[in-house]
Amino acid sequence: MYSVDTYTEDEFRLMTKLFPKYKRFQIIGRDEYDNLIFACNLIDKNGLCSDYKNRLKMCKNYPSAKVNNGGVLHKRCGYKISPEKSFKDYLK
Ligand code: SF4
Repeated sequence: MYSVDTYTEDEFRLMTKLFPKYKRFQIIGRDEYDNLIFACNLIDKNGLCSDYKNRLKMCKNYPSAKVNNGGVLHKRCGYKISPEKSFKDYLK
């Protein structure tokens, strides 16, 4: 997963101090655009949330409307994005 407001490892460390629940995430790398990539430590071996009742608000709200603005869902995500109208329909 990505964060829209965390750009450096130091910012992430600060965020975990301000919001201890974020300690469930760990940085696992950077993408080709140098954005940090995170993984959640609470995903069980079946790919399910092991603390579903206490998951964060952002987890409950996933996928956010931001995904419609050029976001990409993980290949294994159960959600699908389909436009309500085609680009041609918007031009009519
Ligand atoms: S739903 Fe659960 S496993 Fe998924 S990111 Fe949130 S806390 Fe982690």
